[in-house]
Amino acid sequence: MQFIDLKAQYQALKTSIDARIHKVLDHGQYILGPEVAEMEAQLAAYTGSKHCISCASGTEALLMSLMALGIGPGDEVITTPFTFAATAEMIVLAGATPVYVDIEPDTCLIDASKIEAKITSRTKAIMPVSLYGQVADMDAINAIAAKHGNLAVIEDAAQSFGATYKGRKSCNVSTLGCTSFFPSKPLGCYGDGGAIFTNDDALAKTLREIRTHGQERRYYHTRIGVGGRMDTIQCAVILGKLERFEWEIERRLALGEQYRQKLEQAGAKVKLLTVRPDRDCVWAQYTVFVEDRESVQKALAEQGIPTAVHYPLSLNRQPAYRDDASAAETVHSHRAAEQVISLPMSADLTEEQMDRVVVAVAAI
Ligand SMILES: *Cc1c(COP(=O)(O)O)cnc(C)c1O
Repeated sequence: MQFIDLKAQYQALKTSIDARIHKVLDHGQYILGPEVAEMEAQLAAYTGSKHCISCASGTEALLMSLMALGIGPGDEVITTPFTFAATAEMIVLAGATPVYVDIEPDTCLIDASKIEAKITSRTKAIMPVSLYGQVADMDAINAIAAKHGNLAVIEDAAQSFGATYKGRKSCNVSTLGCTSFFPSKPLGCYGDGGAIFTNDDALAKTLREIRTHGQERRYYHTRIGVGGRMDTIQCAVILGKLERFEWEIERRLALGEQYRQKLEQAGAKVKLLTVRPDRDCVWAQYTVFVEDRESVQKALAEQGIPTAVHYPLSLNRQPAYRDDASAAETVHSHRAAEQVISLPMSADLTEEQMDRVVVAVAAI
């Protein structure tokens, strides 16, 4: 069994993806070719956003967003310590300081009720993470941002493309939404890729300049940028994947529900993640809480069932981001880091495979 079955997905879409890749090879516009704009238009329409700016990765999307907002030295960005490192990494790389707010223990999402206490005159943005494919409480977060002088809200939506929050699509629920097309994400390409979504014309223009070395037109540089484009071939792959993406999202929602029912029925000693009733979680990972994670991982590995841990250590306890004062407060984050385990999950997971996982977990 694979943790994420990317090969099954390719087999299902092979004809279309191969043809699209060959078309790019033939027309030769490997950078910013027609597939880039075509993909951006389709993704913007999908999320309902006015603009989609594709870029080199989800990490680059976060960095470019911070740059476009002019966030740098002396500025603070409020975020969660329970996320992939790139979230805080890009805040630090931009020269700003990550300020950590603890998570809700049942969803693992930033606890919006604790954000206001962390706002200072230096706060420039809030960066919630839509972890495991569930969007954080964006209405509450946007309201806090508006109340404190229109702070920017950047959704780290690397794991949540396709998810909804009160009927709105992830990536279109705040100032900027940043997603990733890393192969294992809900919408993945065959390499690195990412995108930024916004309804703000000025920010979109700035982001397009930043993406290509801050140039307004060729070789005229008005600002500092990056080499942050997504390859045309990778956009072609996404266009192929979009042909059955709606089906994949439906599958992911159904599989998440099936996992819940089967684990409960089997009496498995796991605590399930809460999904709020106003949201759809696309289960980038199917993550649950267990008491003795090491023995669970070992028992599953012995039966050929791969698992993963997203993530084993809060960022404010990592050597690179160590922040003892905030680490003393973010207790739910640390407990989650000790207890979370992700089970095999992808749109191509079969019922038989899921049953094997459930039986193995329940037997522990
Ligand atoms: C994957 C991920 C990123 C980074 O995306 P890349 O495309 O791998 O650079 C950022 N934040 C979160 C929460 C992620 O899961």
